[in-house]
Amino acid sequence: MRVRRLMEMEKVVRMDQEKLNHFRSILLNELKRHTQNVADEQATAQDGADDGVKDSVDMSLADVNKEIAFRLGERESKMVAEIDQALLRMDEGTYGVCERCGKQIDERRLEAVPTARYDAVCQAIIEKNEGFEDPPTL
Ligand SMILES: [Zn+2]
Repeated sequence: MRVRRLMEMEKVVRMDQEKLNHFRSILLNELKRHTQNVADEQATAQDGADDGVKDSVDMSLADVNKEIAFRLGERESKMVAEIDQALLRMDEGTYGVCERCGKQIDERRLEAVPTARYDAVCQAIIEKNEGFEDPPTL
């Protein structure tokens, strides 16, 4: 009897851990993907800088390519940072908890946006106030 009760308790804990592991693997996959993107785009930027410097037309084109690659890289870097932070919250045990109201973030929302820091309600409020109330978080 005692053993069975213990097993049931473990099952509950394991379920939660399973859920976390599920999101962790999603995040790690995303991290890998975006890290690869950053690397690719940095390589593209490097290529753009290396070739096509024969005349001014080629050179400006190379500059444009470089600029685009840089901006993409910047966006990807931001994604990587967000994923990093989500993984950090996971280690801290605050993953899946809204940073604004402290409520649990809907699991379906986390499935769609595994780096979500707010629940849908708070996200909507924040987006509505975007540019108006912009607290320097982090
Ligand atoms: Zn909230």
